[in-house]
Amino acid sequence: MKKESVDFLVVGGGIAGYQAVLSLLPHGSVLLVSRGPLSSGSSYYAQGGLALPWGFGAEDCERHVQDTLRAGAGLCDEASVRILVGDGEKVWKGLLSIDVPFDQAPDGSFLTTREAAHSVPRIVHAGGDRTGFLILSALARKVSESSSFRFLSNYQICRIRKNRQGMVTGAIFLGETGHDLLEISAGATILSTGGGSSLFLRSTNPRLQRGDGVAVAARAGCEIERMAYYQFHPTVLDIPGQAPFLLTEAMRGEGARVINGQGRRFLFDYHPDGELAPRDVVSRALWLESKKHPEEGIFLSLTHFPKDRVAQRFPQVYRHCLELGLDLQTTPAPIRPAAHFQMGGIRTDMNGRTTLPGLFAIGEVASTRVHGANRLASNSLLEALVMGSRIVDAIDGGRRSSEEDHGESDESDQVFLPSVDIEEGWTRLRQILWDSAGIVRTLPLVKKGLLEICAMIDSGRPAPIEGARFALGNGLLVAKLILEDIQTAPVAGANYVVDEMPGLT
Ligand SMILES: Cc1cc2nc3c(=O)[nH]c(=O)nc-3n(C[C@H](O)[C@H](O)[C@H](O)COP(=O)(O)OP(=O)(O)OC[C@H]3O[C@@H](n4cnc5c(N)ncnc54)[C@H](O)[C@@H]3O)c2cc1C
Repeated sequence: MKKESVDFLVVGGGIAGYQAVLSLLPHGSVLLVSRGPLSSGSSYYAQGGLALPWGFGAEDCERHVQDTLRAGAGLCDEASVRILVGDGEKVWKGLLSIDVPFDQAPDGSFLTTREAAHSVPRIVHAGGDRTGFLILSALARKVSESSSFRFLSNYQICRIRKNRQGMVTGAIFLGETGHDLLEISAGATILSTGGGSSLFLRSTNPRLQRGDGVAVAARAGCEIERMAYYQFHPTVLDIPGQAPFLLTEAMRGEGARVINGQGRRFLFDYHPDGELAPRDVVSRALWLESKKHPEEGIFLSLTHFPKDRVAQRFPQVYRHCLELGLDLQTTPAPIRPAAHFQMGGIRTDMNGRTTLPGLFAIGEVASTRVHGANRLASNSLLEALVMGSRIVDAIDGGRRSSEEDHGESDESDQVFLPSVDIEEGWTRLRQILWDSAGIVRTLPLVKKGLLEICAMIDSGRPAPIEGARFALGNGLLVAKLILEDIQTAPVAGANYVVDEMPGLT
């Protein structure tokens, strides 16, 4: 096995990971290891923008806090939300200092938009609908100026490395071949591997966002929580044979209408705010409406927008739809919800500390409880940036400890790998989660799904590590954690569990 040593090891190169690198570089050497390039994580695709307590006064912050708590279906941790929002101005100034090209009016003022469940326009955006890509690119450009920074791509994390005292001392990775192992020892290990929404049949996330960080941390004995809390985005393009593609919520924020097959805006039947109701409410309404009128279809309509407005304001989305033969300026887009964001994950405090010493988690992989059971739109880029900055306060001294002799644990190189056919295993897993942990859940279906996932896990046997099978093992473990969490803590609100639903058994 190849071995390396570094002061700070960051695993995952999305906005959370790169922001952490930027904060850590003044304190030592940083190695960022990622499974793929910038485009492999969700950050690259974030369209709508970054939520900030715009104005940054006490009242602006309080409104942002209250909107977040309301959208979170009563399950946010208020103290954490206050920290999140309170750090908004600092991260905004940081982004301006690295020249993120946020959209501006001709007079130089920054443009802000509104999304569902926000009481005021407070979302800044860049390149119209390319906010994530432009923030990520600016961060990557900035950190690559430092000689203390190194980037290693095409490695997936497979194990947390611990010493005999239980202190995390780095991680072990699998290279491209799926067999070659790389061991990296570090003074502090930060997981920023993003969420796991691609475990569901329909998802907005890049294909490989399948919850690996949670699986690896769970195996190391780290506390995982709130895995039942997945967010489903309502307005996701639904064209047969095409991958689901997000139609940003900023469209609804700026007046787009959700209509049924008869052209009726039915969302007001479900919530007084109609299109601007919280995401979980809108997704559920779409789900219920499609059960009532399965043949009719549901659409997002922007055809009433002034000429050229859609193309100018949402250039990326507009172009993508046009390539699929759909002109959003003249034709309503067929939509159906898809899994979008993981609110739970590795339990951390508001400095990224997990329950294992030496291990930290930030961004979508972590559960800071700021999102409750339903995330307020555009709060996740804020979380990634805030937590990527705050991590530095928790790991002061990481450099010193990386220079000590950690001593290795005597963990075996054999792992428990599922023995089912890999392709079939993934197909089954994604279908099970969609059916039993989807937008509306019934306990009988949850139980049935859990039994099937456990049977696939139990089919496994100890074997030398191998990439593809290992990844499926991760997926099965995360699916199990999701279903177990729904079963033990079924809550109302964003995680809609009903005793029974006609047509669902
Ligand atoms: C289409 C879309 C639009 C969105 N729009 C918005 C928006 O407008 N505003 C907003 O606030 N949020 C938005 N979100 C959510 C937001 O983009 C994400 O929550 C956020 O970017 C997550 O950042 P992250 O750094 O935690 O993870 P990610 O950006 O997902 O990065 C994860 C990184 O970890 C790496 N990785 C994964 N598994 C492994 C492994 N096993 N080993 C090594 N590396 C691994 C990946 O390669 C990647 O580099 C959107 C999400 C999507 C999918």
